[in-house]
Amino acid sequence: MIQTIRGTKDILPQQINQWQFIADVFNKISSNYGYSEIRTPIFEKTEVYVRGVGDSTDIVNKEMYTFTDKGGESITLRPEMTAGLVRAVIQNSLLSVSPMQKLWYFGPFFRYERPQKGRMRQFHQYGAECIGSNFPESDVEVIMLADSLFKAAGIKNHKLLINTLGNDSTRTVYRNELIAYLKTKTESLSEDSKNRLEHNPLRVLDSKDPKDKEAVENAPYILDFLDTPSLEHFETCKKLLDASNVDYIVQPRLVRGLDYYCHTVFEFQSDALGAQDSLGGGGRYDGLFQQLGAKQTPAVGFALGVERMLLTLEAQQNLPQDEPVADIFIVAPNIELQPKVQNIATELRNKNLKTVTDLMRRSMKAQMREANRLNVKYTLIFGDSEAEKNCIQIKNMNTTEQIEISLDDLNNFQF
Ligand code: AMP
Repeated sequence: MIQTIRGTKDILPQQINQWQFIADVFNKISSNYGYSEIRTPIFEKTEVYVRGVGDSTDIVNKEMYTFTDKGGESITLRPEMTAGLVRAVIQNSLLSVSPMQKLWYFGPFFRYERPQKGRMRQFHQYGAECIGSNFPESDVEVIMLADSLFKAAGIKNHKLLINTLGNDSTRTVYRNELIAYLKTKTESLSEDSKNRLEHNPLRVLDSKDPKDKEAVENAPYILDFLDTPSLEHFETCKKLLDASNVDYIVQPRLVRGLDYYCHTVFEFQSDALGAQDSLGGGGRYDGLFQQLGAKQTPAVGFALGVERMLLTLEAQQNLPQDEPVADIFIVAPNIELQPKVQNIATELRNKNLKTVTDLMRRSMKAQMREANRLNVKYTLIFGDSEAEKNCIQIKNMNTTEQIEISLDDLNNFQF
């Protein structure tokens, strides 16, 4: 039997309610903050990610689904959104429409990772990007938006970690210091970190490998290298967060995996998730527009994992209840009555009542059983004698009370 590709999953009908609930939260909360939805293609020229995400990252080096198409072009299934979204903002000149673009997205992403609980090869992210401001109030706004989403979805006890990577000059000084320090520990580093040492030394700091964790214990802290503008940016962020109702912890080792971050970086975690405990994260990326060939434009954003939100809600026993597929089942034992049954169903559907009829020509008893199984609120019985009298039986499945009404009155019946 042909199976799904490793690390991918079908989202089955009984789970769709959860996904629609989450999508409604995304829609509602994003628009409460004045963000507009954007949808971009799920594949892009590979160059978008190599230039945008950076070729020293695990995503670009190890995890991309890249292939050559029939026209000989190198194409990549999107592993993240920010680079493609920035490409879309540049290509469609959105910043000339308004210098402030506040955008959100929700959709599938693809990474060739080793699948485990909470880590898949096709997964879904929601994200928001606030483009055009270099002021800390925009960093704080996106953090507050993420926090509001988690709260509106019913997630409890999520933890927010924040740190700063400072501006370019801070990072240049710190990078050199860090490389010098790490070189004294080369022997104790994991193979991955040895390779990262020169290209992406900051990444060594958030390696999960126990050898690396030990080696970086006494590494210098970036917070000790911040110049005045970088320090001011971070202090204002903290002050604004203090004034909001979002709790946070400063985590001086937090760097996040991507090359494009500067200043504020942050991550939301949940204890309910186990090893893959990151619900989402993001940061400021003032250099990305330039990297993709446009003029320098400040921006800040985040992405969160939708499967991980659902796993957290499941662990916290807070998933939305399954909804019955129908409110009303029309039982009709005779196929001759089908034209009339169809019309009755249409009348009810036009009143937004979820109405189903038997499509398998089952016996009356089997149809009643099906109505029970579907857990409908009302079963309507339309047999030959009802047709003759132009009436219908309405059975309330909760109270089992059954009444007969004229079909002419059906439209006014309070279901
Ligand atoms: P990132 O784009 O790596 O910063 O990831 C943002 C969020 O997306 C993470 O915190 C996770 O919640 C989620 N995520 C990232 N990679 C995966 C994956 N392979 N499977 C499931 N969720 C993921």
